[in-house]
Amino acid sequence: MSVVKSLMAGRIIEDDLFPYPKLADKDREVLGMMIEAIDQFLASHQSDFKRWDREGAQPAEFIQGLRDLGLFGLIIPEEHGGLGLSNAGYARVLSQSSRYDSSVSLTIGAHSSIGMKGLLLFGTPEQRARYLPKLASGEMIAAFCLTEAGAGSDAASIRTRAEQSADGSWILNGEKIWITNGGIADLYTVFARTASEAGKITAFMVEAAWPGVSHGHHEDKMGIRASSTTTVSFLDVKVPPQNVLDAEGKGFKVAMAILNNGRTGLGGGAVGGMKTLIALATQQALARKQFGEPIATYGLIREKIAQMAVECFAAESVVWMVAHYIDAGFDDYSVEAAISKVYASEAIQRAAYEALQIAAGAGFMRNLPYEQAVRDCRILSIFEGTNEVLRLYIALSGLKELGKSLAELRTAVDEIFNNPIKGFGVLTDYAERRLTHVTGVGRDKIVGKIPSALREATSIYEKYTVELAKASDFLLRKYGKSIAGRQHALKRVADMTIDLFVGLCVLSRATSLATEAGDAGKRAVGIAHAFARQAKRRMANNVRRIERNEDEEMELLAGFVLDSGSYPWDID
Ligand SMILES: Cc1cc2nc3c(=O)[nH]c(=O)nc-3n(C[C@H](O)[C@H](O)[C@H](O)COP(=O)(O)OP(=O)(O)OC[C@H]3O[C@@H](n4cnc5c(N)ncnc54)[C@H](O)[C@@H]3O)c2cc1C
Repeated sequence: MSVVKSLMAGRIIEDDLFPYPKLADKDREVLGMMIEAIDQFLASHQSDFKRWDREGAQPAEFIQGLRDLGLFGLIIPEEHGGLGLSNAGYARVLSQSSRYDSSVSLTIGAHSSIGMKGLLLFGTPEQRARYLPKLASGEMIAAFCLTEAGAGSDAASIRTRAEQSADGSWILNGEKIWITNGGIADLYTVFARTASEAGKITAFMVEAAWPGVSHGHHEDKMGIRASSTTTVSFLDVKVPPQNVLDAEGKGFKVAMAILNNGRTGLGGGAVGGMKTLIALATQQALARKQFGEPIATYGLIREKIAQMAVECFAAESVVWMVAHYIDAGFDDYSVEAAISKVYASEAIQRAAYEALQIAAGAGFMRNLPYEQAVRDCRILSIFEGTNEVLRLYIALSGLKELGKSLAELRTAVDEIFNNPIKGFGVLTDYAERRLTHVTGVGRDKIVGKIPSALREATSIYEKYTVELAKASDFLLRKYGKSIAGRQHALKRVADMTIDLFVGLCVLSRATSLATEAGDAGKRAVGIAHAFARQAKRRMANNVRRIERNEDEEMELLAGFVLDSGSYPWDID
């Protein structure tokens, strides 16, 4: 069971959380030079980013500069001409470019995280040899084509079709929308429904230069305006059979694997953006005087700055823990990756809101960077899986695993009579878990590894791991399979799970940093403590509301407003 699925069953897998992972030496070598080069190149374009945001495009010479820096080959193995960075190293690069501009990061990120990731994960040696060198140099830029007008979150409902001809090639027809890098890409990973195999989805690699492939105009967006977003259309495009990724009918699995694997890029970008926001907010708070003092002396401003630091540390801790799981070859990390995406994407939106609030009127003016930051980060909770859908995924994945163990229990009870030994084991596990819920005795202890200053935080996570398991158990028993339709309850389970997993990542990282000399180590302990107390309040609230809540009233109210079609109360 994955780390988070185990949490939902009441167990903290310490070995997968402690000690906090470090960057690999090989990554460090590459990163040192790469980060310096990024700083130099992007700092020289600092004044251009605002203009490109207004104009809604990055000039071709600038994209060439990104190519020259090697930014399209970050995760491509060295033997194919790339830098061979791990997920953790890659996320670190995106966090650096995001300190300057989100559109730049997205251009690089959409290429690596999703555009050509399918080739890395599922490509045959021949496919890799054919495309990876060109993708590494940036001679080819990649994009990921899943979304359609009628298929957003419900990606399985796509209608783009591929029909196989007698010679084995595929004829592709359909239109994709909102494709990042759509207007500059040379290679698309396209998902289409195949006529055979009962209409299952298949992934294809399609070159932009092939007859019948075209893209629409550059979308006029709220944020990340300089990154290319277009429709991409396929009209009778002939795709050779050797351009199928993985196997026919496996496209949905391919799409989900790409998205899961790519989430740390987005998370790394969010962390970099938050660091810039913290730097801006700090400078502003120190420079701006009101009532005779810098506003940085006022508690309400200090609280915002401290909170931004807590949440940036938390986002960083969870994103790099997940990157480590991927790099270490864990099989099952999709729920953890979803948590890191949800947490980091929401943390940066809070940070952007608060940084603008600290700058207040000045922050509202377009000559300062705050309004662009607010616009740019808004997309993060929408694409690569909306945060609503990811919350449902987080909760349901854990509950499904727990449901399996309850089903096993049912079999075990029957088995006791037929095969006492086999049946006994399962029942004992279950009984122990129940006992843990009731008494807390025998529950997993992580205390041994934690500095004394973090004991309180530790016991909060121990207690709420048990509470989460109890809540999950309760919901499964009450609703059975129909829990899938109980979204209010699922959101509470997801939010508790997010707090627990992010909190444990923070605890692990603070434990490693606590031994370091100087203020940074001490303050990391303070952050872990603050996060744990805040998480405790949120989790306690969620636990209380598992059984006592206003869900029914809210459902009735939603029905009423939806039927009315508007807000039906006016002051007369
Ligand atoms: C700037 C930009 C770049 C993008 N880049 C790409 C790209 O490169 N490649 C690509 O393929 N796509 C891309 N997308 C598409 C993006 O992934 C989708 O917008 C996203 O998947 C959501 O789909 P949707 O917008 O159609 O929203 P919908 O799926 O219509 O959702 C609308 C609302 O309903 C909620 N919702 C949906 N289903 C449920 C449910 N079952 N339960 C509860 N709530 C639900 C959603 O959370 C959301 O709040 C991009 C989009 C944008 C805006």
